[in-house]
This record gives sequence, C-alpha cells and structure tokens, in this order.
Amino acid sequence: MRFNLRFFPHALFGVLLVLFAAPSSFATITYQISLAHPEQHLFHVSMMIPSVEGSVTVQMPAWNALYEIRDFASRVREVKASNESGPLPIEKLDKQTWRVTGKGTITIQYDTFWDEPGPFASQLNSEHAFFNPAMILMYIPARRAEDLHVDLTEIPNGWKVATTQLKADDEHSFAARNYDELADSPVEIGAFAVIRLENVPAAIRLIIHGKPERPEILKSKLERICDYELSLMGGAPFERYTFIFHVGENAGSGGMEHANATAIAGRTENMLLSLSAHEFFHLWNVKRVRPASLEPVDYTKEQYTKSLWFAEGVTSTYERYTLLRSGLWNKDMFYSALGRQIGDLESRAANAWQSAEQSSLDTWFEKYSVYLQGDHSVSYYTKGAMLGVLLDLWIREQTNDTRSLDDMMRALNEQFGKTGKPYRDREDLEAVCSQTANHSCKEFFDNYVSGTKPFPYDEYFSFAGWKIRRVVHASPQMGTQTAFEISEDDAASEKQKRIRAGILTGTTEKAVAAPN
Ligand SMILES: [Zn+2]
Ligand SMILES: [Zn+2]
Repeated sequence: MRFNLRFFPHALFGVLLVLFAAPSSFATITYQISLAHPEQHLFHVSMMIPSVEGSVTVQMPAWNALYEIRDFASRVREVKASNESGPLPIEKLDKQTWRVTGKGTITIQYDTFWDEPGPFASQLNSEHAFFNPAMILMYIPARRAEDLHVDLTEIPNGWKVATTQLKADDEHSFAARNYDELADSPVEIGAFAVIRLENVPAAIRLIIHGKPERPEILKSKLERICDYELSLMGGAPFERYTFIFHVGENAGSGGMEHANATAIAGRTENMLLSLSAHEFFHLWNVKRVRPASLEPVDYTKEQYTKSLWFAEGVTSTYERYTLLRSGLWNKDMFYSALGRQIGDLESRAANAWQSAEQSSLDTWFEKYSVYLQGDHSVSYYTKGAMLGVLLDLWIREQTNDTRSLDDMMRALNEQFGKTGKPYRDREDLEAVCSQTANHSCKEFFDNYVSGTKPFPYDEYFSFAGWKIRRVVHASPQMGTQTAFEISEDDAASEKQKRIRAGILTGTTEKAVAAPN
C-alpha cells in the first residue's frame, strides 16, 4: 500500500490460500448485501450460516488494509439473529464478537455505516459503493476456510458491479474460496468506465470512477508500467487483474494492493501512475513473496512483522525503477527522487536509533501523531526503499554487475512466490541475498536492517560512479536542512559505468541464471 502523505502507514493484506485449503465440509456461507437508500451510508447485511449445531460465534475484523486497529465493529448496529423457527438469542462477548444460540441455518442481520473515500476504507453514497469486504462482513472464526457466496441486492439503477474475484457467477454475485480470499477482493459498484489494457501479455482491465485528464495517455503509460514489471518478474501470476481508480478531489488518496487487483485514488496522472507502479509490484512482493510473520492473518489484534522495510520499502525501490526503466521518468528525475529520499531519511533524528526492522514492528503506532514526528520514528518506506538501492549496488559490486536486486527478487519469487511458502523474514531474505551475491549478506543485514549504522552512501554510490553532494540550506523559518544531490562522475571506471547503466536500464552484464 502506499499513502501520498509525506510519511506513512500502510498495511496490506494477504492471502496464502494453502494455509486455508482445507476442503469445505459444510454448505456455502452466503452474504446478502443490500445497497437500499445509499444516501444513508448503511450497508444492510444478511449472513446465512448453514449447519449450525447449538451455537455459532461471529466476529468483525479489528483491522484490514491498513496496519491500524480501527475496530470495524464500532460501525455495526442492530445485530439480529434468527432461524426458521424465529428470532434467536444473541450475546455480545467482547467488542467484536457475538454468539448466537440456535441450530440449522442461522441468519444474522445488521447494518454497518461507511462513508469514507479511498482504498483503505469503504463508502456507500449516492454516487457509488466501494468496499473492502473485511470492513463490512463478519466471519466465523471456526469456519474461515469455508466457501463463501455474496449476493448484491437493491443496486441503484444505472450502476454496474466490478468484483475482483475470478469466480463471478453473474454481475450481481460472486464467490470466494474462503474468508481471507474474500477479504482481499474489493468491490466497486457505480457508473464507472471500463478500459482493457492492450500491449500487455496478460488480462488487465482498468475501472475508472471519476474523470482523469487524459485517459488515453493514462492507459498507454499504465501499459508500459505493467509490461515492464511483468517482463522483469517473468510473467503474470494472475488470470485477470483489475485496477480500480478513483480520480478527483474527493476521491481520497493512496493505493492498496490485492492478490488480483489494486484500488488506487488520486488527483493527478503522475500520482495515479506512481501508485500503480508500486501496487502492481506488490503482486509479487508481499502478495505472493510473503513474510511468514503475516500468515495466517489475525483479524482480532495487531499482527507484528519485522519485514515491512522489504515488503513496502523495496516495493518503493521498484516503483521508481519501473518509472525510470519504462521511460516515464528520465534519469534526472530518478536522481532527484533519490536525493529527496535521502534528505527525508537523514532529516529524521530517529533514523539514528530506529532500525528498519523496528520501524516495521511499530507500524501500529502510526495512528498517533507524536509517533509520526521525526524524532520519534523513521518510515520503513523511506528506509526500506533506500536499503533496496544499497542492496542492488552491493550485489552488483560483489558480482561484477552480473547479478542484481532483480535477480534476488526473481529468486524469491521462485522459492517462495511460486511455491506458496511464506519466507522466514530476515532469515530467508538474507539467505537469498547471499545466494544472489555469492557473498554473505550477514554484515549488511546486521548493520543496516536489524542495526542502525549510518548508511554508507559515499562508498556504495561510488560503485555506480555516482557522487553525492550535501547542500546545507539555512532559513529562519525552517532551520537548517540538508539536501542531497546525486550526480554522475565523469571519471568513473568501466566497471562503475556498467553498474550505473545496469541500474538505470535494469540489465546486468551478462545473463547468469538466478539462484533457485
Ligand atoms: Zn505498498
Ligand atoms: Zn467508485
């Protein structure tokens, strides 16, 4: 995920289907979501639970999309339960859990209020419905692995439905193999435009709610982004992919990744495209190359991971690599973005004592404004994105530019993405790094990932024949600020020039099979 604010939170969600692949032993659990009177902002939900013997416990997630406890149960009202004999007793057990006593097929009904724009929220109003299913649909903790079916009813005239599930039965209903898959499948309902991408080797469509300035140019630039990342990673890991764009002043801001889709909101073309380059790369990094610490998902409380510097930060490295290598940016834009990123990082006092791993663990504090201040925290986006570039430089230096961070990503995809096995956080990242570099990465991880040694910009940037210049600006309003300018050293050696060209164009000196 990515926010458009200066420093931010994020979170995401994932699904490792293997973990919940138990065959369903019951009939399908069915939800009906009514959009009647959308101006009231209430999703009217009925949940039909078959095969209940004595009682059933249901819960609303406390978090989803963002790594932030948001207590979706606080939006739920008038929970009722019944079966064919009539109303059933219902007891609330804690802030997000209810128990219904009864048997047979039990129906639970409630309303839930949502009127927040953007990919990290849900909204029902007279213009559209957009929802992340985990924000409005309860689950049964003991039956999360069962098949689910969703019917959408009382859809206002003229609205279309875009689901991001493959198994859509018809336009007003869809299915999921389990609750985690459902939670990862946002839905847009409204009067949107549909554009199919061409010139890409995969089925990708763009749903647009709002009016981008230049839809044709947006489409062709999006095609270049997808095409580059698909070729980088060796093909599409999905059957069908959907970009859901919300464009405009009141559309919200940011992007959220899903296994077969992304929801993105922004005002400008540049914003939409850089978010797209980021979210599309999450197809691999975090959705399929997934840290074990995020599996299985615990919807009831904080889920701690030390790997967001890699899952989010290195995805940001690839966001910029993609913009550069697909020709949307020139190299001056890339260098100035890199310089700004170092400036952001080095201006935060907490960079000296909060490691990339600690910043990942503390993501749950990002809802507190004190925590976001520069002397309290550093962003795992910024620190992680810089670590991506440093790792790339280091791998290329060690291997005489025959291997790169790209090879490390592809090796992770082979070993973890394609096998469905989650990686053991630092342990596996370091191991795959060492295999790729033909050299132990332990010291790098000790110093810069788990530790807080100052980043070795001068030394590492020199591998690519880059010079880094610190420019101190002093002003009465802002105090002293240091800007960083990256430039190319004209006196660079052949090796330095090769590494530089390799980073800028995404190539290595000669094809060397990536480790498996
Ligand atoms: Zn992200
Ligand atoms: Zn919409």
